[in-house]
Amino acid sequence: MAHADPGLLTLLALGETVPDESVEDHLRTCATCRSELAALREVAGIGRETRVERDLPMPSEDVWSRIAAETGQDTSSVVPLRPRPRRWRALVAVAAAAAVIGAAGAVAVDRITTAPVATEQVLAQVDLARLATAPGSARGSARVVRTNGRTVLRVSVDGMPAPEGLYQVWLFDGAATMIPLGVLTNGQADMPVPDTVDLNTYRVVDVSAQRWGQQEHGTSMLQGQLS
Ligand SMILES: [Zn+2]
Repeated sequence: MAHADPGLLTLLALGETVPDESVEDHLRTCATCRSELAALREVAGIGRETRVERDLPMPSEDVWSRIAAETGQDTSSVVPLRPRPRRWRALVAVAAAAAVIGAAGAVAVDRITTAPVATEQVLAQVDLARLATAPGSARGSARVVRTNGRTVLRVSVDGMPAPEGLYQVWLFDGAATMIPLGVLTNGQADMPVPDTVDLNTYRVVDVSAQRWGQQEHGTSMLQGQLS
């Protein structure tokens, strides 16, 4: 006896009912088709979380149209160009997600196709100390963050008076040299740190009040040493 139609097995794996009862009869007696169905069901489960990278039997046009009806996906551009296995695999992931979790499917499908969020790694940080020039409410923090392939100094301050000019962030070697990195906007800034700046040497983060147009380092307000 011939094995079950692979397209019908795919529909069964997606939770569809199939009109042909002989398929179910066949499954009761055929371990090969049962294991194929189990594998397809596994793919349908995986499809909720990730793209499917697995060879699947190419379904008949009738199966395509049922998947299209089930998911709202347009398969007409795929069918005349068969075989297109990659397109088929991706569509199975969409169909599986929609069939398995129903109305919530749209959200899950979005997740399938969305690139992972970039991760950030904190390399060093410090709570900035208030200097005598700053009011008692002043506080701040600095972090060195590795994100999207670059190193950024992220500074955040709070409780500072409105500056007459602006607040500027510097890296300081603790001796004689200060490197201006950027200015705070509403007490915040993400400032790229050039690869040529050695953060083991320039470990002190300094926030200074600058008068408009003041080129040299102004009045230090907050300071802290990265660790
Ligand atoms: Zn069989």
